[in-house]
Amino acid sequence: MSENTQKVLESIKKEAEEQIAAAASTVELAHIETEYLGRKGKVTELLRKTGELPKEDRPAWGQNVNKLKNMVGALIESRRSTVAAEEEASRLSQESIDVTLPGRFFRLGRRHPLTATIDEIKRVFIGLGFEVVEGPEVEEYKFNFDALNYPEDHPAMDAQMSFYITDDRLLRTQTTALQGRVMEHKKPPFRICTVGRCFRYDALDATHSHTFHQVDCFAVDEKINMADLKGTLSQFARELFGPASSVRFRPDYFPFVEPGVEYAITCFVCQGKGCPLCKMSGWIEIGGAGLIHPTILERFGIDSEKYTGFAFGLGIERVGMLRYGIDDIRLFLEDDLRFLRQF
Ligand SMILES: [Zn+2]
Repeated sequence: MSENTQKVLESIKKEAEEQIAAAASTVELAHIETEYLGRKGKVTELLRKTGELPKEDRPAWGQNVNKLKNMVGALIESRRSTVAAEEEASRLSQESIDVTLPGRFFRLGRRHPLTATIDEIKRVFIGLGFEVVEGPEVEEYKFNFDALNYPEDHPAMDAQMSFYITDDRLLRTQTTALQGRVMEHKKPPFRICTVGRCFRYDALDATHSHTFHQVDCFAVDEKINMADLKGTLSQFARELFGPASSVRFRPDYFPFVEPGVEYAITCFVCQGKGCPLCKMSGWIEIGGAGLIHPTILERFGIDSEKYTGFAFGLGIERVGMLRYGIDDIRLFLEDDLRFLRQF
């Protein structure tokens, strides 16, 4: 083999050795491998030249080029295992956990004050033997008004400006709407409690909202009278506002009860002595109540000579505001965490 061709092999060998030694990544090594040993690589090109040489030179040339090829391959493999190990180590060090870092803080949720109030009210009435039933928020006109003894153009309906979906469907203005739905299917005796959202076309202020929650309870059985109603409400007041609470009835009018009352409980701040919360009266008004109007019972085929019933409703926001000392009803629906975290 000529001195010249020997030099070519030597220079390629040297060049490859330097490049391989300097390669810092497995990706770089893969490029070098292609550059020398690939289909158009420098060493591969040398092998192709074999055919152009005089016959006597070919075996020695082929032997030397193959030697070079094997050597470059071996150098790349050896360098590759070193570089791969370095890459693995560096990856692991980046992924390692720094135990000195502070832990991540997970916020715990809590019950909304309205949910807490609803749960508490339900607990009391379930304890008194009431069955909790839910009704639809989009209610039929006949259940929201007709079934509750509201005659057409009754003044009470002016007070309840409503969100109508169609002429005979609306967002319910009161959970009392459930009474007709229950009486349509159930035969007395029954004791029903329902809790839910109601809607009225009302301007927002500190004590009024277009969206609010109501509890409505009613019981129908033989010989139910005002004493049963007062006993039930007294037990409710004692459980929710303390053992010293009592209940006061004053005549009021609702189309679905006869007689009807507005009921108040002993002020739980001053125990009836008089304070700013109860406007010095010693009483806090909670809601309306009464004996279910016989016309309503008859409408659903319940014999009003044999059966009587009581019904009462109350606003959950009002109870929540009283229990937690909240002075603005809008806070319940604003979802302000600074407010909600206080409970
Ligand atoms: Zn008071």
